[in-house]
Amino acid sequence: MSNLQKTITEPAREIQVRKEVDVLVVGGGPSGITAALAAVEDGLNVLLLDSRSFLGGNMTIGLPILGFLGQKGNQIIKGIPQKFIDRLKAVDASSEHRPCPLHMSLTLVEPEAVKTVALEMLQEAGVEVMFYTFCSDVVMEGDELKGIIIESKAGREAILAKTIIDCTGDADVAYRSGVPCEYGNETGGVQPPTLMFCLGGVDTEKLRLSIAEEPRTYLTDFIPAEYFGQNNQFIVVGLRSLIQKAAEEGLHLPVERTIIITGLRKGEAWINMTRINGVNGTDPESLSHGETEGRRQIHDIQKYLIEYVPGFENAYFLKTAPFVGIRETRRINGRYTMTQEDILSCRHFEDAIAVASYPLDIHHPDGGGCTLTWCGDCYDIPFRSLIPQKVKNLIVAGRSISTTHEAMSAIRVMAPCMAMGEAAGRAAKLAIRTGVQVGEVSVEQLQAELVESGAFLRDFEEINE
Ligand SMILES: Cc1cc2nc3c(=O)[nH]c(=O)nc-3n(C[C@H](O)[C@H](O)[C@H](O)COP(=O)(O)OP(=O)(O)OC[C@H]3O[C@@H](n4cnc5c(N)ncnc54)[C@H](O)[C@@H]3O)c2cc1C
Repeated sequence: MSNLQKTITEPAREIQVRKEVDVLVVGGGPSGITAALAAVEDGLNVLLLDSRSFLGGNMTIGLPILGFLGQKGNQIIKGIPQKFIDRLKAVDASSEHRPCPLHMSLTLVEPEAVKTVALEMLQEAGVEVMFYTFCSDVVMEGDELKGIIIESKAGREAILAKTIIDCTGDADVAYRSGVPCEYGNETGGVQPPTLMFCLGGVDTEKLRLSIAEEPRTYLTDFIPAEYFGQNNQFIVVGLRSLIQKAAEEGLHLPVERTIIITGLRKGEAWINMTRINGVNGTDPESLSHGETEGRRQIHDIQKYLIEYVPGFENAYFLKTAPFVGIRETRRINGRYTMTQEDILSCRHFEDAIAVASYPLDIHHPDGGGCTLTWCGDCYDIPFRSLIPQKVKNLIVAGRSISTTHEAMSAIRVMAPCMAMGEAAGRAAKLAIRTGVQVGEVSVEQLQAELVESGAFLRDFEEINE
């Protein structure tokens, strides 16, 4: 049981400064990897740290990368994210960007290769990577962030940096620095987590042909049955009547729809169907409940797949993801807060630093449902949404930038997170090169650098082609 009312006073103490660097990237997920790769290009001293023993964050839990293509089929995320995919492809660890009527595009990646390739690319570029290091606090001088406090087997230490990029997904650095943050929707509800798991021995050909040939029995959400006739790497979302039947026959299933993602390896399928409502991804007891409950739910979900879904008759359990996937925690209050209207109106921003197209995709905080809303094209992510209020020397990239709960449900997918990371890394570099705070860099110069180095921005479309 937690005892959050009781407190003790921790005595002040001197701690070691382990490192002083130019740019510090906290968190090595999709946004952190690209941020560090972008920041290091001028030969700056860049350190990336992660609390886990590997890079990739949620890119290692069996998910396809969504959002490289826009709703009109054009590629809207390029630059370093694409270079990362090219490197994965070179070791047969990524698919093409496959158009998908529901998700715009999916790019299947092999989780183990993500860890290895990301590390190789960072090391080749000269980024120092430190694992097993948790950022637990910050070093402030007035409203300026000077560094962070880390906890590790070596104890409590500090790292100082000229510019810090918060890519923790939870806005850990921003929150500790005093940046005002939001959590969840207007009643504090967040999208629920999922513990992904992988089954082997799946006949994915049988699955897709069953859907293609018997669409009435195997009805999917939004994706027409013909799609499955033409694609052998795919996501299935739907089969609601099968779930209903299984539930009526006594299985305990936490969701209303089936979500199956084919793996890159033959016979593998990743299952996105556990759902643990009410978990707070910033609280260890709540996270422990999420891990425990997610693991418990797998039994009936696996039984459902084997007994009701074609192609799973001989499936067997292979592995769970390394950690329960957290969809939503804190979001910073930045200089601009992206809204659902910005997304649905395909809004252009003068300070655009990335373009995204993924729909609003809210897994409801309560119950087992989900709502998707598309805008018909794509929308910009403004630089101001990466710049926190109140604190200097800090920029945020990834799912915790400044958005509403609704807008976050769209920009959170991994391709836009990678594009934001690249922009944040380039902004940090530019700040040091031009001797200004990261929030004060010239947006025109940042945009020019992004486009010159291969990123996609709509106002520069001719240069992009
Ligand atoms: C179940 C689920 C399904 C999803 N489905 C898809 C999908 O199909 N396709 C898609 O594109 N997106 C999907 N998403 C969304 C996407 O995965 C995330 O929004 C995205 O990965 C966020 O990227 P990020 O870089 O902001 O954070 P993360 O991927 O969360 O990475 C954060 C990194 O920071 C590290 N870290 C965190 N705190 C600290 C700290 N204090 N100190 C040190 N290190 C720290 C973590 O270890 C981690 O490596 C899904 C998410 C979930 C949870």
